[in-house]
Order: sequence, then structure tokens, then C-alpha cells
Amino acid sequence: MALLSIVLPAYNEEQNIANTAEVLAGLLAEKGIEYELVFISDGSTDGTYGEILKAAEKNPRIKGAEFSRNFGKEAGIFAGLELASGDAVVVMDCDLQHPPEVILKMWELWQNGAEIVEGIKTSRGRESLGHRLSAGLFYKIMSRLIKIDMSASSDFKLLDRKVVDVLLSLPERNTFFRALSFWVGFRTESVEYEVQERQFGESKWSFWSLMKYAVSNATSFSTFPLQVVTVMGMVSILFSIVLAVQTFVRFLMGNSVEGFTTVILLILIIGGFLMLSLGIIGHYIARIYEEVKGRPKYIISRVTGNVQGRVTGTWKS
Ligand code: UDP
Ligand code: MG
Repeated sequence: MALLSIVLPAYNEEQNIANTAEVLAGLLAEKGIEYELVFISDGSTDGTYGEILKAAEKNPRIKGAEFSRNFGKEAGIFAGLELASGDAVVVMDCDLQHPPEVILKMWELWQNGAEIVEGIKTSRGRESLGHRLSAGLFYKIMSRLIKIDMSASSDFKLLDRKVVDVLLSLPERNTFFRALSFWVGFRTESVEYEVQERQFGESKWSFWSLMKYAVSNATSFSTFPLQVVTVMGMVSILFSIVLAVQTFVRFLMGNSVEGFTTVILLILIIGGFLMLSLGIIGHYIARIYEEVKGRPKYIISRVTGNVQGRVTGTWKS
């Protein structure tokens, strides 16, 4: 019988673990689906890992790991994929904002041959205005840059074993799970779902963390910002040709002493463009530097007893 793994990254979610585990286990057992739950505590500073251990003791189908520090949700997802042994793997948030019933639809589509099932949001649930605006801006920038409409996509997906193996074999460190699942191709289906209210605790995303996420994902998936540098260069060259002609004409007409304002403006504009361009290029160099160092995406400090074999950066405790 096919095994379904559910990967749940969790950062300071001690209030959610037991409840989520119970809800998912109940639902899947009721439908007679062979399952396992993989909780990854992303360097939580509260009792999240303790809760995972407790849940794993109660239910042998639950396993989990703890990171040595907070590595971010992306890392949590990839660690979960690495630990999962299912024929199909669902990735979802552990705060039950992704409705569990949707898993059943995904599972059905998978049984009918889908290799990736994308969860598509029909609404963003109730969120603060600031959060909605920054998330909106984030998706707008991202969709433009990587040319995939991301506004409704989420990390809630089902992946076939093949796809999981492909994702795990990608050598890059700076991953963007949501877009990578489009990039790899495969037979893709989608299901719509409505984002639910968070069960317990609060969202881990602030305005700045979203912006940082946007910039780092944009640069890991697109070289467009580098081309912007070229465009800015061309714009300033055009601008300077116009000014050069004007200056020359004035010189011929014998009143070339003016133009102090022009000089100041030119210095400011070109200086601004140069610094911005250097910043963009510097950012890419930083990304290359990170990739070249080849450090692991995450470090696992502890795993539950039922995790078999060695996992990247892990030792069995
Ligand atoms: N998360 C994580 N590491 C982080 C931040 C978040 O593993 O550094 C997890 C979090 O525990 C949750 C999921 O990612 O399961 C989504 O986070 P959250 O609910 O805070 O985001 P939102 O739903 O508000 O977008
Ligand atoms: Mg959430």
C-alpha cells in the first residue's frame, strides 16, 4: 500500500503540535490512508520539540527532528522531504491554516496520476492590513520577476516521490520551494483551498522578514535585477548625450558658464545609479559566495528514535 508522508515545519509552535497531530492522524486513519507525520522543529526556543517527542511516543507514525538553530521555513521543508519516506509527500503548515481535508483531494489526484498537486489559495484568510499589503507586494514582485503567477500559490503541495528525489538532488543552497515545484515541471494538478484562521500562536512573518524573503527569493530565481543595472546605464548614457549636445550648443553660442545645476544633478544621478547597481551586483556576489561555501541548508541536532539512517548534518541521539 502506498505511504503518504506529511511534512510540517514548525517554529515555536508548541501549542499547535499535539492538536495538529491528532487532527491529521484522525482524518487519515479514518480514510484508511497509510501515513506518517514528519515534524521539523526549526530551532524553536519553546517546547516545540518536546511536544513532537511526546506525539511520537503516542503514535509511532509520527517522527521528527530539531534544528541546531532557526534556519527558516525553506530549510524546514527540505529537511522534512529528506526524512520523509512516503510515495507521496504533502508539505503543509503546522498551524492548520492549510485545511487538512484538502489533503484527501490531493491524495486522490495523485492516485489518478498527478505528480505534483499545487494548493491554490482562494482567500488569504483574516490577516492584518500591513501583513496583507506586504504579502501582496511580495507576490507582485515575485510573479513579475520569475514569470510564474505566484499570487495564489503556497507551500501547501503534494509531491510524488520522483519529484521529491529531484528536489533533494538539486545542489543549490538558496532554495525557493514554492517556485521550484513549478520549475521542475512534471504532471501538475491543482486544488483550491481557503486559508483558515491560525489555530494557536501568531504568524512568524514580519514586514522585514517578508521583504528579506522577497529579495532573497527574487535573486535566487531571477537575474532580472542585474539587467536593470544595464538599463539604468543606458538611460544615463542617453541623458548625458542630450546634456552633452546642449552644453556644446551653449559653448558655441558663447554662454557656457552657466550649468552649475546640471553638473550637480549629473553627479547625483550618476552617483545614485552607480551605487544602486553596485548594491545589486554585490547582492548577487553574496549569493554566489554563499553557494560556493557549500554549507548544508540546515543542521539537525536531534531526531526522534524512529528516524532511520543518517540525515545530512545529523547524528542519531
Ligand atoms: N516556520 C518555520 N520557520 C520559520 C518561520 C515559520 O518553520 O522560521 C513555519 C511555522 O511554524 C508554520 C509555517 O512555517 O508552520 C508558516 O508560518 P506562519 O504560520 O508563521 O506564516 P503565515 O501562515 O502567517 O504566512
Ligand atoms: Mg500560518
